[in-house]
Amino acid sequence: MDGSGLPVTRSTCPYCGVGCGVLMRPDGHGGIEVRGDPDHPANFGRLCSKGSALGETVGREGRLLAPRVDGRDTDWDTALQLVADRFRDTVQRHGPDSVAFYVSGQLLTEDYYVANKLMKGFIGSANIDTNSRLCMASSVAGHKRAFGTDTVPGTYEDLEQADLIVLTGSNLAWCHPVLYQRILQARKERGTKLIVIDPRRTASCDRADMHLALKPGTDVALFNRLLAEIEKSGATDKEFTSKVIGLSDALEEAHQDDVNVTGLSEVEVTEFCRMWIGTEKVVTIYSQGVNQSSSGADKVNAILNCHLATGRIGTPGCGPFSVTGQPNAMGGREVGGLANMLACHLDLENADHRAAVRDFWSAPKVPDAPGLKAVDMFRAVGEGQIKALWIIHTNPAVSMPDADAVRAAIAGCDFTVVSDITGATDTARLADVLLPAAAWAEKDGTVTNSDRTISRQRTVLTAPGMARPDWDILAEVGRRMGWNDAFSYENPAEIFREYAALSGIAGRFGRDFDISGLSGLPDTGYRDLQPTRWPVTAARKGGRFFGDGQFFHPDGKARILPVRYRPPAAKRTPRYPFRLNTGRVRDQWHTMTRTGLSPRLSAHLAEPFLEIHPEDARDLSVKAADLISLESPQGRAILRARITDAVQRGQVFAPMHWTGETAPSARIDAVVAPVTDPVSGQPESKASVVAVKRF
Ligand code: SF4
Repeated sequence: MDGSGLPVTRSTCPYCGVGCGVLMRPDGHGGIEVRGDPDHPANFGRLCSKGSALGETVGREGRLLAPRVDGRDTDWDTALQLVADRFRDTVQRHGPDSVAFYVSGQLLTEDYYVANKLMKGFIGSANIDTNSRLCMASSVAGHKRAFGTDTVPGTYEDLEQADLIVLTGSNLAWCHPVLYQRILQARKERGTKLIVIDPRRTASCDRADMHLALKPGTDVALFNRLLAEIEKSGATDKEFTSKVIGLSDALEEAHQDDVNVTGLSEVEVTEFCRMWIGTEKVVTIYSQGVNQSSSGADKVNAILNCHLATGRIGTPGCGPFSVTGQPNAMGGREVGGLANMLACHLDLENADHRAAVRDFWSAPKVPDAPGLKAVDMFRAVGEGQIKALWIIHTNPAVSMPDADAVRAAIAGCDFTVVSDITGATDTARLADVLLPAAAWAEKDGTVTNSDRTISRQRTVLTAPGMARPDWDILAEVGRRMGWNDAFSYENPAEIFREYAALSGIAGRFGRDFDISGLSGLPDTGYRDLQPTRWPVTAARKGGRFFGDGQFFHPDGKARILPVRYRPPAAKRTPRYPFRLNTGRVRDQWHTMTRTGLSPRLSAHLAEPFLEIHPEDARDLSVKAADLISLESPQGRAILRARITDAVQRGQVFAPMHWTGETAPSARIDAVVAPVTDPVSGQPESKASVVAVKRF
């Protein structure tokens, strides 16, 4: 109850990876009022504009109310039997790798766990990938290469205990606003210094001590220079580096890299290195500007290398910090929702890990090879290798690179199922079967935020029409495909306990992700679960990793990786002379299915736009608010010009949110090239080449 005597339910914001706690209270008219939870350790009562507007976005407008087959409403029995029959028949005729799931960081952990178990354990393919591939796959790859596991070493408290915060490839002020507010508060109280590394001058630069506007994709060269300066200045931690392998090889590469490719002046580079090396407590936060790159994993390792070389990791106020885009990108990593991972940070390539998961699930088979990562998955759909596809809570016809080709691939697939809260997305319109899913505030489960804190999302509204939770839909398809016992779940608490028990096996293999201390949680304990940072075992709860120099490679040591700058994959040419950067705006989320419902949020930036430098605009005779045609080898988009020196000459920036529906030609991912990092499979969403013309 709150002061007014009305019931209050604790939950978690469904947007970014900060994972803010919210208090929800029914407004008496079928909606809810939402405010920040003062007791949640991610936000202590703060909310950003998106979180504050949550109550405006839970209406039933546009909701999908019944299953639909070939455009006609039907009942669950008909729809789910069709899905089960078509997937089973396709597997029987063409093998398990002829089907695929493409899921989402919007899924709750319990939904994600069931989807992954169904595909990897029972259908027998690793063809399950997630839109988190577009968000943080390079961080996963970088962590695994350096640490032996996908471990975020630090905690949010480190951001307040640091004396220097470096934001690289992260517009934290807009994309993770509550973390940015926490940093500004610490800055006020203890004078924390702030450096922003970004080709574009963003809102995060407004309060920064230094903005390094480097050339796109050159982060490796900058951090290699930092590594070289660390050695030169004697800042290498001798004791800590006795617990790492590869420092001398990495230094050799670092010395050969050329920092001039960054376009930064020697004064800027020297000052950056001086501040970083001279500040004991430093946190380097990185996000999509690092990850969404054809050398994303190398960029991540270039950052991790500097922290490992100085031992500035896993102690208060120190460490590299990957902030994830989505509310449950971390949960997806933990349940093995990527095509190259097993549940609970166990490794698909490891026969002992596969056998342990197979035995735990009593599954017929766990695949021994990675499945198709997102870009390759949709390519395989387009080429007819994937014949049955289930897309859950994501809109790849808008958000995937080369979106026109992805849309055509989905349209041409033999059988496509889409689960979503609305039938009005570009992807949902292509579905053979549409399944109505419960939305935020209507469903119950857990999410993990960027600092490993598991929080509950709870139910306060009744799902409209026939909408159901995703775990329930997936489990029923599993049962209808013949695996009754494996998918006989009655509630999400039961799934969570199974998942926590499986993590105990991972713990026995010496993996980081172990929440076996929660495996005996009764239903009431699950209902009342407070925000809890993993690991959770009999011996340990929460805390940081790696301060003790213990890592998860078999020899217990970390790896410092030799990396060298590689330019973005697409080359600028006279025909395509501009480099396109894409990203988020402050008040919209993904393809606007939910935030687009709030007039308040839409008032911030009402239409899609293209930022272009004043001198480029002058050369092209473009004036403010002119319509611009943006063309690449992949496709075309129409956007309104915003002339600003926040972008450098030769570079343009466009937001990622607008869809074919709200502005027919503003789907920016139709222009983005489907180029990926060879290690992580993450697309290079920030360095396509384009031509810019007045429309
Ligand atoms: Fe939600 Fe992220 Fe805003 Fe917090 S910072 S309220 S999690 S969108």
